[in-house]
Parts: sequence; C-alpha cells; structure tokens
Amino acid sequence: MSFTLAIVGRPNVGKSTLFNRLVGKRLALVDDQPGVTRDLREGEARLADLRFTVIDTAGLEEATDESLQGRMRRLTERAVDMADVCLFMVDARAGILPADMIFAEILRKRATHVILGCNKAEGKAGEVGVLDAYSLGLGEPLRLSAEHGEGMEDLYEVLMPLA
Ligand code: GDP
Ligand code: MG
Repeated sequence: MSFTLAIVGRPNVGKSTLFNRLVGKRLALVDDQPGVTRDLREGEARLADLRFTVIDTAGLEEATDESLQGRMRRLTERAVDMADVCLFMVDARAGILPADMIFAEILRKRATHVILGCNKAEGKAGEVGVLDAYSLGLGEPLRLSAEHGEGMEDLYEVLMPLA
C-alpha cells in the first residue's frame, strides 16, 4: 500500500521544483484527450526507499477569466480530496502572505492531514519566514530547499509512517 501526497500552495513557492525533484522523469502518462485538465500533474515519486504518488497543483500561473483565488480554491480542494496527505508549501523568503492564509483556511476546513513545508529555507534569508510560518497554526514547519535538495531527510521522516 502506498499513499498520495498533494503539494499545494500559492504560485511561485516552489511546488513544481519539489515535484520534479521527487519524480525526476517518471511523469505519469499525460492524457491528451481534449478537455482533460492539465491543472493537476501526477507522478510517481521516490524518496530514498519510499514510493508514492505525488500531485502538483499546476495551472495557477496561466491567465484565465476565473479569478486566481477561485481557481486556487477549486484546484486545491480537488487535490486535497485525491490525496492522503498534503504538503502545504510556503516561501521562507517571502514570508506569510494573505494568499497563504487562504490556503491554510481551505486546508483546515477540509480537515486533512497537512504537513507544513517552508521552502527556499536555505541560507540566512529564510530564517524570518520560517518563524513566520508558525503563525499559520499548522505546527512546526519543515525547512526545505526544493532547489538545493535540503530538508529531504525531514520530509522522509514525516512521510515514512504513511507508507
Ligand atoms: P510553483 O509555482 O509553486 O510551482 O513554483 P516553482 O517550482 O515554479 O518555483 C518558483 C521559483 O522559485 C523558481 O524560480 C524556482 O527556481 C524558485 N525556487 C524553487 N525552490 C527554491 C528553493 O528551494 N530555493 C530558492 N531560493 N528558490 C527556489
Ligand atoms: Mg508550478
């Protein structure tokens, strides 16, 4: 038995960077049927000896008529409902923004299993943002650097019991 992890959070926090790190080239087959949404990318993740499914909430970056907030909500709810656990990602360099609070509220209402990840935490520039992340009330944030591969052991430790 394996599990499904959804990576959620506002645009530009590093969700796809982590997705790519976990999945490498093992992307799930993309369904080319017209009308099939590409907003959620699914892949087969590997983290040391763990194998699981990971979902990236993409598509928020593209301009459409629907408001960003409406799309964030809809996409995030879909991803959450598909997943056993969510990695809610915030940006240690940007700190906690109003959009992050909206995600925190969606996740709290969904009463889902949430791991808080504070990405871009490499170096000194991330320290304030990590402290700020405690204010979300979602527990201790994992310090991650998706780009540099830092914090992967901590991510492993929180995911291991789910496998
Ligand atoms: P997404 O919109 O949440 O999917 O974010 P992306 O994965 O596209 O990343 C947004 C930007 O943040 C890109 O320029 C990445 O190179 C950068 N980024 C991602 N992870 C890190 C990190 O750990 N540290 C730093 N400094 N930048 C990062
Ligand atoms: Mg992305």
